[in-house]
Amino acid sequence: MNYPLPDFLAISIALERETEERYLELADMMEAHLNLETAKVFRDMARFSKMHGDEITERAKHVQLRKLKSWEFRWRPPAHEVGDDEGIHYLMTPYHALKYARENEVRGMNFYRMAAEKSQDEEVRRLGNEFAAEEKEHVEALDRWIEKTPRPSATWAEDPDPIQSV
Ligand code: ZN
Repeated sequence: MNYPLPDFLAISIALERETEERYLELADMMEAHLNLETAKVFRDMARFSKMHGDEITERAKHVQLRKLKSWEFRWRPPAHEVGDDEGIHYLMTPYHALKYARENEVRGMNFYRMAAEKSQDEEVRRLGNEFAAEEKEHVEALDRWIEKTPRPSATWAEDPDPIQSV
């Protein structure tokens, strides 16, 4: 999509805020289950998103932003989510929580890439490329953690969502 700068900034801020919130939620969940190492990863990621969101908010200070619909930037729940508690149970393992985060970081990265590619606005192209590069780093950081995280065997044996390279 060809985003004008105000729309791009509005979506970027919303995306970073949403990301921060979801990471804090995931961190709480990991702490509740005594997965402290993974909780710390999510706290760090939440902090990066907050910093990034604050920077973009500062950049947008003098820009009249558009109001957004929530579906424009919400994190997508895991594809495996079928029943009531299923999604939550699913995320209780560090491995799957990390993959869930990764999936949504990739979406963020793709949004920024696409905005950079398609926009007629030079500033959107510049920021889009810059932000996409940051998200790519987040994806790679999560990849390193996923690699170190034991993969749950029995119940979650099948993995319909294999990791794709970025
Ligand atoms: Zn990110």
